[in-house]
Amino acid sequence: MRQARMKARIIDGKSIAQAVRREVAQGVESFQEKQGRVPGLHVIIAGDDPGSTVYVRNKEKAAREVGMQGQVHRLPATVGAAYLLGLVRELNADAAVDGILIQLPLPGKLPAQTILDAVDPAKDVDGFHPLNVGALWSGLPGIVPCTPSGCMRLLREAGTNFVGARALVVGRSHMVGKPMTGLLLNANATVTVAHSKTADLPDRCREADILVAAIGRARMIQGDWIKPGATVIDVGMNHDENGKLCGDVDFASAVNVAAAISPVPGGVGPMTIAQLLENTLRAALSRESR
Ligand code: NDP
Repeated sequence: MRQARMKARIIDGKSIAQAVRREVAQGVESFQEKQGRVPGLHVIIAGDDPGSTVYVRNKEKAAREVGMQGQVHRLPATVGAAYLLGLVRELNADAAVDGILIQLPLPGKLPAQTILDAVDPAKDVDGFHPLNVGALWSGLPGIVPCTPSGCMRLLREAGTNFVGARALVVGRSHMVGKPMTGLLLNANATVTVAHSKTADLPDRCREADILVAAIGRARMIQGDWIKPGATVIDVGMNHDENGKLCGDVDFASAVNVAAAISPVPGGVGPMTIAQLLENTLRAALSRESR
């Protein structure tokens, strides 16, 4: 008699993100009681890219909802590097500013890395400053990029065993794949990183107890690439041929093989802004304790 296949547990990013936001709101309240002010998150956006405009509006709203001071600096696409650098220096020097975020991509020929490097590492709530990148890889305290730390929270909430587990991160971007690799390594997983030049990707996936997909290819990872019982985190945010939002993992087939899986939408996406709020609160606490 054939056994009925168990469906994977769905890792509910929406409700986990709400829990993070509640924790942050409580943290903001006690920060205010002690310091007589609320943490301040400042976002700089240049140009009017529709996607970035929506993200920035959501970040501002989310900051205010947890009781922080959220402010957006909206600049024209024609803004010069000197003006941007001047603004970053001003915010670095402002004691009421705890987090500075430069919304990427910057338009035109603006030198994104130079501008990111100018942010005070203690206020770099995106965790992209080389000092924070170095801290992650040295196992030192620092600010960790929001999306990978959101993935780690999802994995922890799913009860994932990291120690000695085989983890595969598909994608090696500075924003997601590389910091995710560092975090899994710091959690004592045995980590492999795959990318567009990796040979035999389906076989590499089949070895993974923890599979994190951060590729940007709609439904690329198929159910039969997944090790039975694996935990799957899908970072991808793609649109399929019908314009429907979907991940990098073919959810319909993967859900029959994995033990736990994060869906798209409702998985990693809601975690990113929640972690940004957490990073801002942590930055505020750590600046006040210096
Ligand atoms: P990037 O384009 O910067 O990186 C994609 C990575 O995937 C690269 O390392 C690339 O390899 C690898 N890759 C591309 N094609 C293949 C392939 N066929 N086989 C194996 N590896 C491949 O993307 P990001 O890291 O910024 O984002 C990845 C996905 O996550 C996107 O869908 C993005 O929208 C989403 N995302 C979601 C967020 C959220 O909040 N939910 C936040 C950030 C991103 P190589 O290095 O060799 O080119």
